[in-house]
Amino acid sequence: MQNLGYYNGKYDLIENMMIPMNDRVCWFGDGVYDVSCARNRIPHLFDAHIERFFNSAKLLRIEMPMTREELKKLTFEMMDKVDSGNVMIYWQVTRGTAARSHEFPKDVKANFWMTIRPKEVAVPEKPITLISVEDTRYLHCNIKTLNLIPNCMAEQAAKDAGCNTAVFHRGDIVTECAHSNVHIIKDGKIITHNADNLILPGIARANLLRLADVAGIEAVQRPFTMDELMNADEVFTTSTTALCSRVSTVDGKPVGMKDEKTFKKLQDVCFGDFFAATEKK
Ligand code: PLP
Repeated sequence: MQNLGYYNGKYDLIENMMIPMNDRVCWFGDGVYDVSCARNRIPHLFDAHIERFFNSAKLLRIEMPMTREELKKLTFEMMDKVDSGNVMIYWQVTRGTAARSHEFPKDVKANFWMTIRPKEVAVPEKPITLISVEDTRYLHCNIKTLNLIPNCMAEQAAKDAGCNTAVFHRGDIVTECAHSNVHIIKDGKIITHNADNLILPGIARANLLRLADVAGIEAVQRPFTMDELMNADEVFTTSTTALCSRVSTVDGKPVGMKDEKTFKKLQDVCFGDFFAATEKK
């Protein structure tokens, strides 16, 4: 199969799959998701993604319909059905199927779906460009919920401005990008917003911090300002699907691009870790 969509035990090509109108995802976006990438059918940082998925569900009081081990087994089974071994795996769990009513339905099992699509992770050829957008999201950005309208609005505003993505700020404080975490380098040190309720605790971010430590690059986890971002030596983003991307402009003004040595070292360890962990055995 070229891709795969799975919903509560049934699977087919994504474009053939249907879900019930009463799935609470349709009424309320009432669910959480997680995304990981695999090469050679080996998912990268798989346990960390599973852990965050289960934790997001717990924070929304959604009871997972399977164990971590069952999720792993099912994902490998479904990956085997897809032609390419280089894929993006998307999991989603929603509170269940019930007539529209705000309160949680009783005695309803959570719905689980998964999609698997071909995806090549590759070192980007050129830096990316950002626009800045006031972060008007709510205060639960640490939960990977399906409520992504502000992120979609910001991403589209970036595309309309001819840029790659948007960086959010709450007043003066930079939080994260529309679908990645953002970091700066100043005087050889990484500065990144601490993992509180204002940002998603990115798996690629956590891996970056681990790898930076091994490489002897210091990292400070604290809020930083738009002014610090505009005057940083380097600005870069991390995410599961793009790993590590350098930023060259924000709102059309040049930023960073002044400490290639430190940035390249970080980008090399991020991609090196992905390729080593997903090498064919
Ligand atoms: N922040 C937001 C809002 C995201 O949507 C994402 C990824 O989807 C990230 C950060 C990066 O998280 P990860 O490294 O786990 O992909």
